Amino acid sequence: MENILVVEDEKRVADLLKAGLEEAGYNVIVAYDGAMGLRLFQSASFDLVISDIVLPKLDGFELCRGIRSINKNVPVLMLTALGSTDDKLDGFDSGADDYMVKPFDFRELHARIRVLMRRATHKEERCDRLAYADIVIDLNRHNVSRDGVDIRLTPKEFNLLVFMVENAEKVISRIDIAEKVWNTHFDTGTNFIDVYINYLRKKIDRDFGVKLIHTKPGVGFILTRKP
Ligand code: CA
Repeated sequence: MENILVVEDEKRVADLLKAGLEEAGYNVIVAYDGAMGLRLFQSASFDLVISDIVLPKLDGFELCRGIRSINKNVPVLMLTALGSTDDKLDGFDSGADDYMVKPFDFRELHARIRVLMRRATHKEERCDRLAYADIVIDLNRHNVSRDGVDIRLTPKEFNLLVFMVENAEKVISRIDIAEKVWNTHFDTGTNFIDVYINYLRKKIDRDFGVKLIHTKPGVGFILTRKP
């Protein structure tokens, strides 16, 4: 069940939100001022924050900045009774993802919550994982697998594979690889890139039916299923 933090000082509105969101299947925790909201945010894991703007102790914008300094991904939806353009801009400035004007239609609120949560899930997947064909790279843990089989790579091999997966289906030159993976200029007198491509081939391709790393003579290399 997804956890939602509601920060709202008007008890009537807070109760309404809690009841409606719980009915929609969410787990809801309410804070009645901004400072309490930030404390609760730090103490538990939330999938979404709904915050009023005018709040005691810490206003909604300050709260949002505080949340963003801890967590860049959690969706924050601001509620405002004012609805002026300036408020909207301030909200986005402080890192809010969306805003709604009170009084709001509950179905619309629910629809926006679903959109924000879906977007956040995709964002996390994009940041943490890279995949091409049956290769999966976990960027946080530096794990690589192909067809579910774990593959151990050295840090340089790992960076080279990440670069190739990010540029899959495109021919990449030795110069590109030298600059982007080794941060150096390619010296035609050395063949260290070819050496590393061969290390990677042994680990990524040798034991698998479909070869993914291909040489384009005179140009460079390409990661592709269909050479
Ligand atoms: Ca208020």
